[in-house]
Amino acid sequence: MRILRRQRTTHAVSIVLSLLGVAFISFTIWKTWPTVSSAEDPLSTFMTVLGKEKFGLVPGFEYELIYLFALGDAMLISGVVLAILSVQWLYLPGKVVWYRCPFCNKDWRSTGDKALVHCPHCRQLVHPTLIENRT
Ligand SMILES: [Zn+2]
Repeated sequence: MRILRRQRTTHAVSIVLSLLGVAFISFTIWKTWPTVSSAEDPLSTFMTVLGKEKFGLVPGFEYELIYLFALGDAMLISGVVLAILSVQWLYLPGKVVWYRCPFCNKDWRSTGDKALVHCPHCRQLVHPTLIENRT
């Protein structure tokens, strides 16, 4: 259950990151559109305007739009990567196996071939022993 909750959290975070990324990028495009749409070379004009135009979310703190654009890009990319990872964890859980902790000798069920995991019982970082065919 703990793993599933972490996957759900990752999924939620990825959606928030992607939405924020899209919002930031849209905002920079919306801010630069009047200049860019009338330019002969929209792409280079866009980059130039990004470096010149400023935005201020808080009075007294103004930043060039390019930072917002870069931040939006980074958030969107990490959001998409996280989304792909969390979807893989959610829907491709892999083979369910039993692990045994070498410290406390307790068993727990998990998925995949993990070389190093946190024992859910004693919270040590362990190289668990795989126990096959236990139901
Ligand atoms: Zn343990």
